[in-house]
Amino acid sequence: METTSKKVHASFQTGQSEHFVHFCETDAFLMDSVSAFIGAGLRVGDAVIVLATKPHTENLEERLKKDGLEVAAARVRGQYIPIDAAATLSKCMVDGSPEPGRFAEVVGSMIALAAQGGCHVRIFGEMVALLWAEGNRAAAIRLEELWNDLGKTHSFSLCCAYPMQDFDGEVYEEEFTEICQQHSRVIPAESYTRLSSADERLRAITLLQQKATSLEAEIAERKGAEERLRVSEHRYRRLFEASKDGILMVDPCTGTITDVNPFMTELLGYTRAQLLGQELWRIGLFRDLEANLEALRELQEKYVLRYETVPLHTKDGQRRYVEFVSTLYQVNGHKVIQCNIHDITERKQAEEAFLHLAAIVESSDDAILGKNLEGIITSWNAAAERMYGYSAEEIVGQPVTLLFAPDRQDEFTQIMARIRRGERVDHYETMRVRKDGTRLTVSVTISPIKDSSGTIVGASAIARDITEHKRLEAKFRRLFDSNLIGVFVSDFAGTFLDANDAFLDVLGYTRAELLAGTMQRDALTPPEFHSLSQNAVKALQETGSSGAYETEYLHKSGRRIPVLVAVTRIEQTETCIGFVLDISERKELEKRKDEFISMASHELKTPLTSFKGFLGLLQRRLTTQGDAQALHYVARMDTQVNRLTKLINDLLDLSKMQTGQLDYREERFEVDALVQEIVENVQGTTQTHHLLLEGQIGAEVFGDRDRIGQVLMNLLNNAIKYSPQADTVLVRVAKDQTKALVSVQDFGIGIAKEHQHKIFERFYQVTDPEEKTYPGLGIGLYISYQIVKRHGGRMWVESKKGEGAAFQFTLPLV
Ligand code: ADP
Repeated sequence: METTSKKVHASFQTGQSEHFVHFCETDAFLMDSVSAFIGAGLRVGDAVIVLATKPHTENLEERLKKDGLEVAAARVRGQYIPIDAAATLSKCMVDGSPEPGRFAEVVGSMIALAAQGGCHVRIFGEMVALLWAEGNRAAAIRLEELWNDLGKTHSFSLCCAYPMQDFDGEVYEEEFTEICQQHSRVIPAESYTRLSSADERLRAITLLQQKATSLEAEIAERKGAEERLRVSEHRYRRLFEASKDGILMVDPCTGTITDVNPFMTELLGYTRAQLLGQELWRIGLFRDLEANLEALRELQEKYVLRYETVPLHTKDGQRRYVEFVSTLYQVNGHKVIQCNIHDITERKQAEEAFLHLAAIVESSDDAILGKNLEGIITSWNAAAERMYGYSAEEIVGQPVTLLFAPDRQDEFTQIMARIRRGERVDHYETMRVRKDGTRLTVSVTISPIKDSSGTIVGASAIARDITEHKRLEAKFRRLFDSNLIGVFVSDFAGTFLDANDAFLDVLGYTRAELLAGTMQRDALTPPEFHSLSQNAVKALQETGSSGAYETEYLHKSGRRIPVLVAVTRIEQTETCIGFVLDISERKELEKRKDEFISMASHELKTPLTSFKGFLGLLQRRLTTQGDAQALHYVARMDTQVNRLTKLINDLLDLSKMQTGQLDYREERFEVDALVQEIVENVQGTTQTHHLLLEGQIGAEVFGDRDRIGQVLMNLLNNAIKYSPQADTVLVRVAKDQTKALVSVQDFGIGIAKEHQHKIFERFYQVTDPEEKTYPGLGIGLYISYQIVKRHGGRMWVESKKGEGAAFQFTLPLV
């Protein structure tokens, strides 16, 4: 050891200007070497500058002293100059780099001072080593350059020292070379320098060369491996990032998420930061913590877990379905869990839509079947089974022509030719044959079926059994064509779409005019009947039938045609069928009858008036003569004449009403007084019933007092007539803000519900067989109703069969 270091140290005995570098493996060797360099300088009388750290300076001085050198004295003499390296360095640095001017000034003046007296200067400098240790390698190299520059103007020997371990690593190769170049001499580290013989050194060099080659090879190999690893990592990261599956990495110990790919964050709607550190159940992958832990346990056992369909709720509350596969594996001795989440929502929705569609097909009332281009049946629904009698097992795989009637086999080729062209066959009516050989009429719609590439691969056929429909249609056609009654088909808006000849004849139009769409209900109806036909349409929409109603149509010539119409809706369509009966003749007959009644009542009234006059004369004469018996007969005659007069008056009123000739006098009158008067009047004609009057209203109405009196009289007479078993009739008068109400209640035979709305019609009499027939003409209520209506009032009845009746009417108050 001693010898070795002496050898090294011998190289420092120069006295020449030079800048050499010394690499050391240990600090001790460095100090050894430096103390030899400095010691040698002191011995030969050189000035020495030690630009070192404090510990190094102290260590050096100790060693020098040990070697017998008078360090303190040399210092006093100015031969030994220790200077703090860090302090000097900071004086030279500007912005992290040594500034040439400052360096030249600080260090140059230091050397110049030491060189006074002409002695050689030796320097041990650690400033570069300090910069290197700080990691400021560029500054270190720059400082070496500045030392070299200074060497051009000053004479000195400079020893730099670097710890060898500071260059461990390939990255330093370039800088190491650079540093070596900055120095005029390079002293290798002690493992080499210590070797004593040339042979030993050559062997060491050879060994080093071998080591260097194998290291280079190893480095190259490692670099390759690192590169491959980097590429592979990059590739997997790309896959991870770009995957259309959600991927979660989970720590098996904590069960928390350690990594998540973008697809997953997007699917769930959470950010990556929100997901990291979460347990799977918290993001909805498991029902609860318990299920989550159970899955982790199972995974530890089986290494792979697969769930076909897991419902998942995204952050914004959407429900998605995923396929969940998690695997447990080892990476670098660490276990990791990888969960792959495949969004199958769309597939599931498609499956559901498919099932939904299949359910519709299955539950359809129409037969639905699929066939390929060769006509082989591929699917068959329940309705097809019911309609044709074949089960799906029997028919699937069979040719569709099995269902075709023998005389219609060629239809198949025609239909398939159209299907191949991509055409659809709509509502094609034809004949098919059931399994039992019976025939049925069907309406078929056949459409091409295309595969995902748009190629036609078969056809679907939807068939409806219209056998019954056809039969009904034939029956209707017979009725239509019989022309026994006018029949039309129209839409709700009122356009006549079809009609039979009988209907066209009633209105005087031709079929061509009908087909041209010129026949419109509103144009064919006189204005005053429009509201009637609108009511009929309303009833049609609400109930499906208008009921029979009388109206008038306008003949093409402009003549009015009275008709009886009944319209019914065709199923749930906006079209309807109407039946029209020309009632012109009946109306004509009614008119003649009305004229006859009018004439007859006039003719009867004249003799009856003189009859009544003479009866009065006779009565007076018999009173003078005191013939009581004859007077009694005359009184009875008078009663009958009065009845006859009333009947004739009613008939006259009726015919006047029909022709609108009934006159009304208009005056204000008191209701109470009129009711009182009439009640008293009628009470005078009956011994069987007691008429009870209730209520007083103290109000007046405006109208024909006699006619209103006639109404009340009618009601009272009916009440008495139709309650032979009772003895009381109640008359009530009441009012509200706007109207007076008069009601006449009896306790007689009553009126069944079905008759109640009809008794106010002309000539209507209830003629139930079990009822005793009461005398009358069935016109009293009609006249009463019309009179009340004419006064702006209302009349109605409340009754139950066998429980009496309460007739009521209102009149507006003045
Ligand atoms: P009529 O001359 O037949 O009484 P109306 O027009 O006065 O004619 O009455 C029509 C029909 O109404 C009667 O035929 C009878 O059947 C029924 N009717 C009228 N009033 C009553 C009543 N108070 N109770 C039961 N039925 C009545």
